[in-house]
Amino acid sequence: MGALRPPRPDLADMSAYDAREPSVDINLAANENPSNLPHELLATMAQRLPTFPFNRYPDPMASQLRAQIAEANGLDPANVLVGNGGDELIFDLMLAWGGPGRTLLNLPPTFAMYEIDARLTGTTIAEVPRREKDFTVDERAVFERLALGDIDIVMISHPNNPTGNIAPETFLIDVLKATDALVLVDEAYFEFSRHTMRPHMERHPNLVILRTFSKAFSLAGLRVGYLLAHEDVVMELTKVRQPYSVDRFSQWAAGLVFRERVVFESQIQELLRQRDVIEHGLSQIPGVKVFRSEANFVLFRVDRAAAVWRDLLHSHSILVRDLSRVPGLEDCLRVSIGSMAENSAFLKAMEHLMTERRASDMFGTTSRDELDSAVGESGPLD
Ligand SMILES: *Cc1c(COP(=O)(O)O)cnc(C)c1O
Repeated sequence: MGALRPPRPDLADMSAYDAREPSVDINLAANENPSNLPHELLATMAQRLPTFPFNRYPDPMASQLRAQIAEANGLDPANVLVGNGGDELIFDLMLAWGGPGRTLLNLPPTFAMYEIDARLTGTTIAEVPRREKDFTVDERAVFERLALGDIDIVMISHPNNPTGNIAPETFLIDVLKATDALVLVDEAYFEFSRHTMRPHMERHPNLVILRTFSKAFSLAGLRVGYLLAHEDVVMELTKVRQPYSVDRFSQWAAGLVFRERVVFESQIQELLRQRDVIEHGLSQIPGVKVFRSEANFVLFRVDRAAAVWRDLLHSHSILVRDLSRVPGLEDCLRVSIGSMAENSAFLKAMEHLMTERRASDMFGTTSRDELDSAVGESGPLD
């Protein structure tokens, strides 16, 4: 009879990140670009495939892609690190600047990976919650917390996923000045918000900027992200990172996409127009509160949100992100901006199910959603 020694005891308090997604007609849950890569790029890839050296290990530092990204940002390649999605780089940052005896300052509700990676690496978490009414940052509380002098790393999603808002640039600059902690400004939605802290890098060696190919650039399936940072930060991160985490094909494909990135411009403009359509459409539905977004998703609040989520899924085959069990996001759902057809199907479904609900509330019948209890179904984290 074999035996199995248990893993580290703190895993008992963690659950597996279950990325399983129900298969649906319309997936608006993960903030992806609703379109696959443009045909020209797919054709270029197809042409390259037969002679692509899949048998060879990739370049550990993704030198070509790194040089392209550096040049586009007016930086040296030593200021750039490419990762297996932004998620890997967040984990690397936590490995290098967090760890036992060290402290992350987090501003929840925000991107779930910050907290997950902190827990995985034994990093202490200090929290300054965002304001309940509009998810703005409690700036005074942040500076009071930083003044204690024990914060090693700060993570700020900008725009903030899942609430969609950005903080004033003056606040971010003041944070950089107020601490010597590493400050991650996560610009995963930079292509939509158009706001970047890049101009402040030279003056603030503690600033790290994170970007990704997963959102605007239709490459969520390949897993490529990058960060911009002081060369000393990049050097420390190369000590903790997995050397071959970004595979050869992904490096090459991301390089192609990055070189041709202007082709995404009109699509991004269209997604921003569609975001207005969703924000406006949702705000016209009685009982729905919409939060203004600078990204390619919209957060909204509605009574019995978990039931709305289930109705969208089961009656309309539409998947959005259920955040209703996240502290501070009670009764909140997040919808990613999809294609025009997907968005109008979503709005129609919302109007339909909210009208149905009003009717059943009026006649005192028990609607189906009230019979359902809140269950632990959820979508992916990003
Ligand atoms: C999506 C996302 C990322 C990174 O996603 P990857 O697919 O791992 O590149 C990072 N931060 C935030 C806030 C995100 O929403």
